[in-house]
Order: sequence, then C-alpha cells, then structure tokens
Amino acid sequence: MSDLNAGDPQEDELLKDLAVDCEIEVTCPYCGETVVIILDPAGGGAQDYVEDCEICCRPWRIRVRYDDMGAARVHLEEVA
Ligand SMILES: [Zn+2]
Repeated sequence: MSDLNAGDPQEDELLKDLAVDCEIEVTCPYCGETVVIILDPAGGGAQDYVEDCEICCRPWRIRVRYDDMGAARVHLEEVA
C-alpha cells in the first residue's frame, strides 16, 4: 500500500513562484535605485501602464507580460 504520490512537492514550489511574481524588483532608469513594484496578475496577460518611481517621482512606462507558465516578464522604460 503506497500513497506517496498524493502530495506532489513540485506543485507546491510552482505555487510559491507564482505568488512571488506579484512583487518584482526593477531598476529605475533615472535614479538607478532598485524599487519593488506590485504586479496585478488579474489585470490581464499583457499590461501597459505608467507609474511614478517612488524614489525620484519620475514616470516609468511599465509593460508586463505573462508567459505560458504564468511567470511575469516586466519591461520598464523612460517616458519621453
Ligand atoms: Zn527613480
């Protein structure tokens, strides 16, 4: 009698990774500071918005995409 496969530890790891993806570290293109931003996975698979740096208050354009695995890819650039 073996029931060892009931709890798959790899599934727990995956859930942890997804939770961590809600917060991501970015480097401000203006002041060079590392800032943690909060992502909103419920906002859609491809997001594009403007947010101010909390250190120097200059605006970033943030583009977020979620890949097939649900991992966030964040691209940050200066607002012209
Ligand atoms: Zn900044």
